[in-house]
Amino acid sequence: MPEDDLFRVMNKVEEPSDDDDEEVYDYENVIVNKLKTPDLRERQVIKELLEDVERIKALKSGVSKESAVEGIESDFMPYLLYDRKTLRDCILVMLERLGLIERFKIDKEKLHHLVRDVSRHMKRVPYHNFTHVFNIVHMCFIIIRKTNIREYLDDVDILSCMIGALGHDLDHPGFNNVYFQKLRHPIALKFNDQGILENYHSYMLTKLLSDPKNDILSGLSPEEK
Ligand SMILES: [Zn+2]
Repeated sequence: MPEDDLFRVMNKVEEPSDDDDEEVYDYENVIVNKLKTPDLRERQVIKELLEDVERIKALKSGVSKESAVEGIESDFMPYLLYDRKTLRDCILVMLERLGLIERFKIDKEKLHHLVRDVSRHMKRVPYHNFTHVFNIVHMCFIIIRKTNIREYLDDVDILSCMIGALGHDLDHPGFNNVYFQKLRHPIALKFNDQGILENYHSYMLTKLLSDPKNDILSGLSPEEK
């Protein structure tokens, strides 16, 4: 069986398009669809959620890439307001501010390509989408910026942390390990039911990093790699 077939997940989730200003996830449409539920109480909750969506839409009209970059140092950055392109740009700014691009002579074009590849691989699922990836990358950034953790870690550890955060849920299908185990899905068989998705995300990240267009680690010594 070709490797791509082996790893193809069972559910057919709509792949993100290449549109730069695409929303990470269409919350509004999903919520509106849920209004069809026969459960009255559930419908009431959904109606209230829709009011939140209206509030988020009003907030969105006031944001820009500049306002996103301004908010990077805040642990209350409102991720849901930003599109994929803005979130991607912010990841580059974070690596820059941590001094990693200069320290490891990272080719910015390759970094841009890698972050774009990661964003393309994040499906339009309700939680494990590109906003979640951004959330984790940003949380690591905030911890590194606001604590004295750098006194205890080497630069290469900081770089590993940021790249690990970027790829930690790569290509997540929106189902958990038990689902794949019960299906006896090829990826469960491949990883012998052990950390199925975790192994898969790790495999995907290594695969993306081995593409010469994404080779951001060429400035590292063999030991650092
Ligand atoms: Zn995660």
